Amino acid sequence: MSYLKKDYYNEHFSHIYIEKDIRNHPNTQNILSHFPRANLIEINHYKEIFCRSHQNYCLQKQSPKLILAKKQNSLMYEGAPVCQDFGNKHFYYTSQVMNCIYDCEYCYLQGMYPSGNIVVFVNLEDIFYEIEQLLMKHPVYLCISYDTDLLALEHILGYVKSWFSFASKHPDLTLELRTKSANWTALSSFVPCDNIILAWTLSPENIVKRLEHHTPTLRQRLSCIQKSIDFGFPVRLCFDPIIDTKDFRTSYEEFIRIVFEALPKDKIKDASIGVFRVSQDYLKQMRKQRSNSSVLFYPYENDNGVFHYSKERTEEMLSFVLGLLKEYLPEDKIFQWKEAT
Ligand code: SF4
Repeated sequence: MSYLKKDYYNEHFSHIYIEKDIRNHPNTQNILSHFPRANLIEINHYKEIFCRSHQNYCLQKQSPKLILAKKQNSLMYEGAPVCQDFGNKHFYYTSQVMNCIYDCEYCYLQGMYPSGNIVVFVNLEDIFYEIEQLLMKHPVYLCISYDTDLLALEHILGYVKSWFSFASKHPDLTLELRTKSANWTALSSFVPCDNIILAWTLSPENIVKRLEHHTPTLRQRLSCIQKSIDFGFPVRLCFDPIIDTKDFRTSYEEFIRIVFEALPKDKIKDASIGVFRVSQDYLKQMRKQRSNSSVLFYPYENDNGVFHYSKERTEEMLSFVLGLLKEYLPEDKIFQWKEAT
């Protein structure tokens, strides 16, 4: 569809679908206040729009619509085996938003969801209630920015602010906010809190340009991380997914050097590394969406329903990046994702 001019598409969120039941919810009102010119359409349930058949994920990403809904049933999920738990026993994630304003070519969301539109669940208070129930039993480690990039959406949702306020009252709750954004404007308005970890996903600049469409550049992310560290936020660096390329070694060597030239190594809380992996069902869908993507059509191996690089290549890539990182960080601060054996 490259012949289409950029202005062929509607603006992002030109149409907003709203479940009738949450029309007057304060979060709905707040979100709508950012889009005074949007066409508002009332619906009964978000799945009427989000789960229609024959949607084109990639085309919808060019001009996503917003769907405001109420999250029903389970609000928290136990961490999946393909996720890094950083040694936390009670590891959960919660999904208040489905889909992302960025468009990474390797993103599993395009295999997981039938639509490129963005669903926002407005009833944050129900998630908070469920967490408080869990906290009565044990401490909770919770990833709040899976299946989206919450910080990148902060200017319209304000959810990160709500999480900061909630976490500051619950010391047994540790939050991880994963992001690729460089939204310093939002971050600078929060008070740093020991139990909220800002976790930046970083990739070599050539991978950012080629595969992480619409995301801030590596330099922009590093500048935001630097300011966050100076401000007192705990910062995690996520070198995940590591992507194989022809110039893998030189590219990652230069990349890690650039990262630690920009950041004070002794102020980094910890780091994670992991190679690209994805479930077979998702990869099948992803390949349908992007039939010309070299990262998706790499000859991965399938192990029990998970596609990944061969065992040898995985070991090679991980030990190379680990070796580079060990020049800057002690090994006990580096978490490696490895498939369960
Ligand atoms: S930033 Fe993360 S969630 Fe968003 S498109 Fe990229 S990989 Fe997917």
